[in-house]
Amino acid sequence: MRRSQDEVLAQGPKVLVTGATGLLGRAVCREFQSHGWVVTGTGFRRARPRFLRCDLTDEDAVRRLLQEYKPDVVIHCAAERRPDVMERNSDAAVGLNVHATSTVSKEAAACGAVLIYISTDYVFDGRNPPYGEDDSPNPLNLYGRSKLEGERETLRHCPGAVILRVPVLFGEVESVMESAVTSLWQKIQEATEESCPMEHFMQRFPTDARDVATVCRKLAERARQDPSIRGIFHFSGKEQMTKYEMAVAMAQAFNLPSNHLIPLTEQPAGSTPRPINSQLNCSRLELLNLSVEPRAFSTSIVECLWPFTADKRWRQTVFH
Ligand code: NAP
Repeated sequence: MRRSQDEVLAQGPKVLVTGATGLLGRAVCREFQSHGWVVTGTGFRRARPRFLRCDLTDEDAVRRLLQEYKPDVVIHCAAERRPDVMERNSDAAVGLNVHATSTVSKEAAACGAVLIYISTDYVFDGRNPPYGEDDSPNPLNLYGRSKLEGERETLRHCPGAVILRVPVLFGEVESVMESAVTSLWQKIQEATEESCPMEHFMQRFPTDARDVATVCRKLAERARQDPSIRGIFHFSGKEQMTKYEMAVAMAQAFNLPSNHLIPLTEQPAGSTPRPINSQLNCSRLELLNLSVEPRAFSTSIVECLWPFTADKRWRQTVFH
């Protein structure tokens, strides 16, 4: 977000959030702002008018940005996070996930900022869960490899940085297609005579972006005081579900039928490989009292989806 004159004069610590127009970045901006931080957010295609526009693949632009704002903390959320898009458009996506991360890390180190790099459970192959922070990554697809490479670039240029790995996210969305979780909503609403096959073999741990944002703030506040807060951390929701189970839970939460949803227990041939169960062990955050109790899926998902319901009684009866 662009800063007003009043905010520039404010005394709070300064955070720079990349990917502020994205699902997680928006939640991170809100979390820090509501706790007295001076927030500068950057985006790219959706940046204006609320946020600064900065193409993170442009090294000079990133250098100017960091030198001008001199943040105390950088939360690096920007990434290409869609595995299928990555496979189709690999050069651009690697440019953002790896090279831009390298530039952001160098410039964060140069200005002495605490850097938090958001990574993913897709760095693991999913064959031997749960995964601790020290377990060996073995990504199955280009997205996972690029995020792992981003982790290594982060720690190479900014050894005091924090890496926060998270699983599939959902939250307040601008369109339901913005998250792999809320995108199931379309299939739930297609309740016709036709059956609707839905993936039921990969275990997921859907996580509310607001909880991740709170963990980022707690990590940032502690890391500013304590340089031993560095390296890899895991955070995850606790409810294990396949996409089929998420869809049934979403239908139940809105009293909608789910009998048209058919569990599909085999991976379709030719799809981008994904880990079957990359459950994260989050004990490091918990031991340091830096975690939060994840919100319950059934209530969070209603908060995210009610603007997309045809039945506006949800607004009146439940939320207002
Ligand atoms: P998102 O909603 O897809 O947002 C991506 C962000 O990257 C947008 O703000 C976008 O800006 C920005 N961006 C794209 N190209 C850019 C460029 N060339 N220069 C500068 N910014 C650029 O992503 P998200 O879901 O919030 O993900 C946040 C982080 O969490 C990512 O690091 C991702 O790998 C990680 N993660 C996400 C999930 C998930 O399920 N979403 C799961 C695990 C980990 P514009 O839209 O303005 O162009």
